[in-house]
Amino acid sequence: MIAVYPGSFDPTTYGHVDIIKRASKFSDTLIVAVLNNPNKKSLFTVDERVRHLESITKDMSGIKIESFSGLLVDFAKKCDAKLIIRGLRALTDFEYEFQMALTNRELNHDIETLFIPTSTQYLFISSSVVKEIAKFNGDFYKMVPDIVTRDLKIKYNL
Ligand code: ADP
Repeated sequence: MIAVYPGSFDPTTYGHVDIIKRASKFSDTLIVAVLNNPNKKSLFTVDERVRHLESITKDMSGIKIESFSGLLVDFAKKCDAKLIIRGLRALTDFEYEFQMALTNRELNHDIETLFIPTSTQYLFISSSVVKEIAKFNGDFYKMVPDIVTRDLKIKYNL
């Protein structure tokens, strides 16, 4: 089974890594798909985000890193993926994610969305929280892999 785990990954956190590890256990190939959305201002370029994920997952098997633009269901179909993976943190994620899942299913009935609940230690970790803490030189190091720490320090001149 081929699964797609889409997101902004701006930047990748240990919350994302946890979902990647858990989803890869039940998929033959897990495609981690970095959304290239020109309308959303990002800290890292798509290439940088792809490179982070490639480096973080280099020792894991069955994982591919790609970028995509346009509709997720079109990308999933192109990859022959029948499953979309999304992580869920608090209940606040739910309404938006539920709506997205229903919309995607409306667009393509062959593709299902599977939600994986966060591991409790990552409940409060998000890319935006990491960026906010890094901006003010707070302690974000435990929330992201080393390569992301290195590049956040460069971006924010820390
Ligand atoms: P998007 O802009 O698509 O929400 P993100 O990179 O913020 O992109 O998130 C990608 C996916 O990873 C989403 O399904 C999100 O819920 C999930 N995710 C992000 N952080 C965590 C976390 N700490 N625990 C579990 N899932 C997470």
